[in-house]
Amino acid sequence: MNAAICEVIWFLGLVAWYVIRYPFERRAKKVSVTKSVYDRRDRSLLALAFVAMFIVPLLYVLTGFPRPLDRPVISAIAGLGVATLGAALWLFYRSHADLGRNWSISLEIRKDHRLITTGVYQLIRHPMYSSFFLLALAQILLLPNWLAGACGLVAIGALYGFRVSQEEQMMLEFFGTEYRYYVSHTKRLIPWIL
Ligand code: SAH
Repeated sequence: MNAAICEVIWFLGLVAWYVIRYPFERRAKKVSVTKSVYDRRDRSLLALAFVAMFIVPLLYVLTGFPRPLDRPVISAIAGLGVATLGAALWLFYRSHADLGRNWSISLEIRKDHRLITTGVYQLIRHPMYSSFFLLALAQILLLPNWLAGACGLVAIGALYGFRVSQEEQMMLEFFGTEYRYYVSHTKRLIPWIL
């Protein structure tokens, strides 16, 4: 596998990512919001993730910047990257399908919001973040440049680090005992582990 093939696979992965998300984004516009925490910090974190996972890799592919941080392409690593990308997209799709009309791009409670504890949410509370971490890992494995590869993980780490406790606090305030029980039976990102 050469660098160009790895880069094309990465961008096809991003296209697939958007194809999965688009119908949920459209549907979400039709469901009214009861409570929202979509503030400036949230918008900045989402913008950072967009820059780190799309703009920086695109700049790298188009201009080669920053060339001194290139690393060699190793087929086995790239192959692992393809498998990780596939797993990320599968989990991204499943978490949207399971959340359904309760999905939001930010921290929101929607009209008639239901707590989902089935499907992938049966094992972990944040499968969508797990899929983002897998996507960031695929970016590292597929893009043969230390900056373009690793910046996605930094941005997703920041998004997760700043938002997850706030999201859980919001869910706890809204769902009370039901959410506390759910927390006591699930992990955040990796089933039975973390
Ligand atoms: N953090 C989750 C969900 C991301 S979508 C994940 O990584 O999979 C963000 C929205 O999903 C939040 O606004 C919250 O209202 C909603 N949400 C999170 N967990 C939920 C659950 N178990 N059931 C219903 N809605 C949930």
